[in-house]
This record gives sequence, C-alpha cells and structure tokens, in this order.
Amino acid sequence: MFFNKTIEQVLEEFGSNPITGLSQNQSEVKREKFGLNQLTTKKPKTLIAMFFAQLNDILIYILIAAAVISALLGETSDAIIIAIVIIINATVGIIQESKAEKALDALKKLSTPKAIVKRDGQLNEIPSEEVVPGDIIIIDAGRYVPCDLRLIEAANLKIEESTLTGESVPVDKDASLVLPGEDIPLGDQKNMLFMSTLATYGRGVGIAVSTGMDTQIGKIAKMLDEKVDDETPLQKKLAQLGKYLGIGALFICALMFIVGVLQKRDLFEMLLVSISLAVAAIPEGLPAIVTIVLAMGVQKMIKENAIVRKLPAVETLGSVNIICSDKTGTLTQNKMTVTKFYADGKLGAIDSLNINHTEHKLLLENLILCNDATYSENSKTGDPTEIALLQAGVDYSIFKDDLEKTHKRIDEIPFDSDRKLMTTVNKYDNDYYVMTKGAIDNLLNLCTKAYIKGNIIEITPNIKKDILAASNNMSDNALRVLGAAYKILPSSHVEIDSLERDLILIGLVGMIDPPRLEVKDSISLCMKSGIKTVMITGDHQNTAFAIAKDLNITNDSSEVISGTELDKMSDVELNNRIESIRVFARVSPEHKVKIVRALKSKGNIVSMTGDGVNDAPSLKMADIGVAMGITGTDVAKGAADMILIDDNFSTIVAAIKEGRNIFTNIKKTIIFLLSCNIGEIIALFLAILLGWATPLRPIHILWVNLITDTLPALALGVDPGDPDVMKYKPRNPKDSLFKGESLNLLLNGLLIGILTLAAFVIGAKYYSGDTNLFPLFPGNLSEDALKHAQTMAFVVLSVSQLVHSLNMRNEKKSIFQIGLFSNKYLIGAIVFGILLQDFIITVPFLANVFSVHSLSLMDWSFVTILSLMPLLLNEIVKIFKRSSSII
Ligand code: ATP
Repeated sequence: MFFNKTIEQVLEEFGSNPITGLSQNQSEVKREKFGLNQLTTKKPKTLIAMFFAQLNDILIYILIAAAVISALLGETSDAIIIAIVIIINATVGIIQESKAEKALDALKKLSTPKAIVKRDGQLNEIPSEEVVPGDIIIIDAGRYVPCDLRLIEAANLKIEESTLTGESVPVDKDASLVLPGEDIPLGDQKNMLFMSTLATYGRGVGIAVSTGMDTQIGKIAKMLDEKVDDETPLQKKLAQLGKYLGIGALFICALMFIVGVLQKRDLFEMLLVSISLAVAAIPEGLPAIVTIVLAMGVQKMIKENAIVRKLPAVETLGSVNIICSDKTGTLTQNKMTVTKFYADGKLGAIDSLNINHTEHKLLLENLILCNDATYSENSKTGDPTEIALLQAGVDYSIFKDDLEKTHKRIDEIPFDSDRKLMTTVNKYDNDYYVMTKGAIDNLLNLCTKAYIKGNIIEITPNIKKDILAASNNMSDNALRVLGAAYKILPSSHVEIDSLERDLILIGLVGMIDPPRLEVKDSISLCMKSGIKTVMITGDHQNTAFAIAKDLNITNDSSEVISGTELDKMSDVELNNRIESIRVFARVSPEHKVKIVRALKSKGNIVSMTGDGVNDAPSLKMADIGVAMGITGTDVAKGAADMILIDDNFSTIVAAIKEGRNIFTNIKKTIIFLLSCNIGEIIALFLAILLGWATPLRPIHILWVNLITDTLPALALGVDPGDPDVMKYKPRNPKDSLFKGESLNLLLNGLLIGILTLAAFVIGAKYYSGDTNLFPLFPGNLSEDALKHAQTMAFVVLSVSQLVHSLNMRNEKKSIFQIGLFSNKYLIGAIVFGILLQDFIITVPFLANVFSVHSLSLMDWSFVTILSLMPLLLNEIVKIFKRSSSII
C-alpha cells in the first residue's frame, strides 16, 4: 500500500532519488530481481497441438478416410502416399502459421508503448518493459502509464482509468495527498497511477512501486490483449469464395463419381479419384497463403519504416486516393530554428536581439520558462518547437535549469493543440509572473496591453495592425510564429481559469522548419498515381501556404482555408467544396474528423495522419489512420492502422506502393491456384464424361496439388513489385478480385486441362500402337500403355502449371520484359518442382509407388512442348493486351 504513505517514505523505501532516479546499476539489479515489466501472455501452443489443429479439417478427414479405405483394400502404396500428403500438408500449414504469427508478434513489439524514465540524472525514453520498481517516471498527456506509480508531482494531471475501474471520465490526480486508511477503492486513490491507464491531460512525475504481474491490472490478470478481428476483408471474401468453390468442386466430384459408376467403372478407383480431386480442387490453402503473403508484406514495410498494426490496412492502402498529412514533422523536418523576433515594435534577426533590453530579455525568459523541453549538450527532449526556444536562450547564455532555480514554476496550463497556447506561473522575487506563449491570433485575443519600450500600454488598433503585419511578414516566409505574453500577480492563489486573461504582449518569434527534401518527389509521384495530397496543420494560414507552394501541393491561395472558415461552413457547403481544398490551416483535431467525414462522403479512400491525444477520433474514422512513431502519443498509435517509424510523409507513399504490390501479388496467387484447380477438374471430368480411362491416378492429383499449392504460390506472393505500380489509378475497393481476369482464369484452366488430356492421348496412341480412333476406353488399353499415358498426363499437368506461374507475374508485360530471373524464388520453385517430378518417374522405387514409367527422349519432347504452351499462348495474348493499352 503506497497511497497512505508520504512521498518521502515511498522514495526511501525504494532507495530512489527524484532528481537523479535510479542508477543504471541499480536498475539492472532490480530487473534481475523483478523481471520484465509485462503481463504474462498466453502460453505458446506446442508443436503437437499445432499439428493436430492442422488436421482438424473436413477435407483432411476425407483424406484420412481414403487412406484407411486404401489400406483395407490392400492398396498400401496409395495409403502411404495419402498419409505423406496429409503430413506434408500439416507441416506446411504449421510453418505458414508460425511464420505469420511471428511476424505479427514482431509487429506488436514494435508498437508497444515507451516510458520516459530518469536514470543517472538523465531522462531517457525506454521500452515500458524495462521499467523497474523505484524508477522515476515522467507522465505526459497521451501516454499510457507503464506500471503502478505513486505520484511525487502532478500538474493538472488527468487520467482515464476505464481499463481498471470502468469509469471513462478522466480523474484528477494529486501528488500531495496522503490517504489515510488501508482500504481505499482504486478509483479514489488520487495519488496513485495504475499500469495501462491513460494520461489525457497535464503532466506528472511518479515513482514505480510495482511492475508486471504485481500491478493492479496484473493482479486482476485481465489480459489487455483485446481480441481484435484481424481478418482482412479480402480474407473474409476469400473464405466465402472458398466455400462456394468447395461446394462446386464437391458437386462436380460427386457427379463424376456417379457418371463413373453408371459407366460401370471400378467403384474403388472412382471413389479415390473423386476424393483426390475434391481435395485438390478445393482451395482450402488460400486463406493461409493470403495471410502469409500479407504478413511477409508487412515485414517488408517495416524495412520501409511503416509498421502496419492492422492487417486489413495493407489492402486498404492500395486504394487510398487522398493522403491528409500534418505539416510539422511529416512534410517538414521538425528541425526548428528561431531566426526572427519582434519586440518593441521592431522586427529583426534573432542574432540582433539585445539581452540588455528588458523587453528582449523578458521575451526570452518567457519562452524558456513556459517550456517543457529539456536541453543539454548530450540530450534534448520534448517538442522541437520548444527545444528551438531553449536553443535560442543557450545562444544568449540563458539556461533553463538556471532560470528555473531562480524562477520556480508554481503552476501551469499545458499546451494543447485546440487552444494552441501554454501558460506557466513562475516566481519572480515576491511576485508571480504568468507566462503565456502560443499561436499569435489566439494569444492576441487574450492580450489587452503590450509591453513596448519599457511601457505597458493599451493595444490600439494601430499597435495590433503592426503586430499582425510582423506576424504575417514572418509567416509569408514559411516561419512558424509564436507570441509571448505575461502579467504579474501579487499572489500565487489565483483561479486557473483567470490566468490567461488581460495579458500583456511582449513580442513574437519566428522559426524556420525546412521541408523534407524527399517529400517533393513523393508528392509528385502521388499526383501521377491519382493520389491527392492535402496538408492539415495547426500552423498559420500563410506559413502553411508558403510551405504548400514550396512542396507543389498547391499554388492557388483559394485552395487554402482556415479552421475558422471551416467552422462557418455547413456540412453541405463543406461537402461541396471539400475536394478542391488542398490546405487546411489553423485547424484543431476536431476539424480533422469533419474533414475526413466530408472526404469520405464523396467516396474517397482517405489516409489521415495524427500524433496528439485528440487525434484519435480522426485516425479511427479515416480509412487508414497513420500515427507518428517519434512524436506520436500512445493514444494516437493505439488508434492508428499504421505507424510511421520516421514520421515521414514519404513513408506513407512507400507504404501505399507496397500495399498496391502486396494486393497485386495476392491476386496473382489466387488466380494462379484457381486456374490450376480448374485445369485438374477439366482434365479428369472431361475424360470421365468421354468414357476414357482415367488420365490421372489419385496420388498424381494429390501430388500436383502439393507441388503447385505451396512453393510457386508463395513465390508469386513475394513477387518483386512492379516498378510501374504507381502509374495506375488507385484500385476501387468495390471492384471484384477477378475484375478483368475471370476469362483469363477460365481459359488458362481450360488450356491446362486440355494439354493434360492431349498428353494422355498422345501417350496412349503411341504406346498402344493402336490405330483405333478410341484407344482410350478402359478396355482398349494395355496396362503398360495406360501407365505411360498417365505418366505423360501427370508430368504435363504438373510442369504446365509450374510454367503457367510465370504468366501470372504480370497481366500485360512479357516475362522477358520483367526479367525471367527477377523472381528467383519462383524460378527456384519451378526448377525444384520439375526435378522432383523427374525424380518420381526415374527413381524405380518412387516410380513404383506413383505407378509411373520413366519417359523416353521422345516423350520428353512432347511433354516439354505441351508444357510450354501456356507460356507461349499467354505471351501472344499479352502482345495484344499491350498494343491496346498505354502502359
Ligand atoms: P501540424 O498539424 O502541421 O503538425 P502542429 O501539430 O505543429 O502542426 P500545433 O502543434 O497544433 O500544430 O501548433 C499550432 C500552433 O500552436 C503553432 O503554429 C504555434 O503557434 C502554437 N504552438 C505550437 N507548439 C506550441 C507550444 N509548445 N507552446 C505554445 N504554442 C505552441
């Protein structure tokens, strides 16, 4: 119990010091003792459990039944092969599943919250897991509390504790309280903070009193891992499609069985053929392959600095047609430098500031005291705007640490992007100075007087005009402008609401924040690919427009509007204008929601960036909410679909490009697998309908399915991106997966089926030596001729499918244009598949098991020509496709 102890008692108990925190050594010893600060997660599944989970599938049951029937009827080799197929299938399933899980785990780790901890006197941001009891921890708005803390300092700190108490209204915290008694409900422990609750406002410092499973949330053992629905729309669609296709395949197999029985064929053989075909034709592996392709794509995106938190985002990324981006830090470098100031009615370069002038000195002191950043040679923490102000002070040998010793902070109202203001109260001898800084338009509304040449005078319209002219001059030159104002209080006991009233304006500063160099190219790339970039900023209209011009977002000032104008518009007016606005300036987080809603109402697929506590609603509402990795709060990250590790706009564009490629690859894989399945169905069903001998044995079908469904399908899933992918317009999410491809899919399936039958006919004719037109009826073929014919059909079916995978790499471009060897995995999979095939027919033992014959050179030439047909015919079709389109 720590709520009933004084701060000193708690500090003593943990041997911690609020100024220096723990030493690195102490923290390591404690980590050994208390372990990592995390809630123990679910036990990982054992390999055996995973294996059995893979077997839990209706199709596998059918296969097991087929194996048992085969064994009972003495067909041991069939039974063994089916068993091997089942084992390989399950193993591939386990590998895929654990790979996908690992990738998702790695993602989760990357987006876990961080904590600001004081160690060896320095503030460091460390992963929350590394926090130990006794650590001194800083909490600010938007941050999750990393463990249970006893507060030692709190400034207007409000905490949302709904995860623990169910109460969603944030509670005020107070470090100075010592609560008597033993039994106080968590919700009333106002001097304590609890793990996983969220700071929504203010600032606080606390000492870690318990970590990991010892925390309140750990004790309740309530897992935080909310069960999110990770199935993407595509996966859902596929699961549905799989069901329909499965029913279709079962129907055809049943029909085939009935036809076979009516033709008085061998019952057992027909049963096995039908079951094998059903197993091969039902695309049960599709959702797993899609998951693994998505997960691997997400891994690739991490290398490009984008962490996708929710898998569906990968698909949506490919459809984004509007990117709404913050300016500061995303389009610009967030490397602020104060270059100008305005005081005493004069605008000047910052190096002409004279520290001996009282107004100039007060201006600097205001900006340094009303400031939460820290600045030392080795470490700078906090908002870059504030760091720039501290830097300006350091250039004049005014250091925040020194200044705060003589002018202690008594009270404060933190900065927030709605008010665009921040205020502190600092002690100056016997007086208390209210120091306010912020956006000049907002600040000017609170000022009644100005401090000019040693006099405090009423702000006349002329003075106001001068101030605004100076501000406009700076913002027209792309500078971010910050005003500083103050007033003197005789006593510190003042209502917080009246602090920011009747202020005296001291002056302004302007700071430069250069655009990111790579962003201009990304914006023009977006333009070419039908994606519009919209700037949304809290900054002044002129500053925003100057930077938007520089980045080629717009050159037209009528495409810029401010938050105030936005407020005046009705929803209908906004909806009518929304698509022509390229810059929204001086907006608050609430405006962002309005903007996303209006854009979405016009059918756009919108990506929106954000970093602050209040950005969460707009991030959630956007199709793709993007949070900043560096400056983003935990709340923004929690609400986002994607996190930018480097806060960079270009990363969003890179992620969109990757998203488009991933979607295309998934599409290729699906169409490939389905056309192969159709080929198998056609070959067998047609042969049975025509009354021919079965061209393929059950194990042939199972084997081909195993070869094509795994490696080539996965290799297509990781196909290198098409360099032209950003030349196309964004994909309409409502479009069918098979848009423009259904005919292609069917024709290629038909082709593979017919080629397989052709190989069967050629083999049968050649080896039976029969001149009869129909040597193919079961009774007309010798066993040896049938074996030969089936071998040729078997090889053509598998090799033509492997070769067909090359066609899938691009809808229009020739395989030689994109480079035959540019997907080494695919080439590897094809070569490996062909070698295995050759192995099966040439190694006597295997040939025996598969009931196949080795092929002569002549046979191989037929087989090769037939197997290359899909490539040849598709290349010819692609020539026509290319000549009828621009790209
Ligand atoms: P963007 O939305 O482009 O990223 P931003 O997030 O920097 O812009 P805000 O942080 O909301 O926008 O800042 C808006 C305005 O608030 C700035 O133009 C500045 O005048 C003022 N401002 C920014 N930071 C502070 C601060 N720490 N203290 C006081 N005022 C600030």
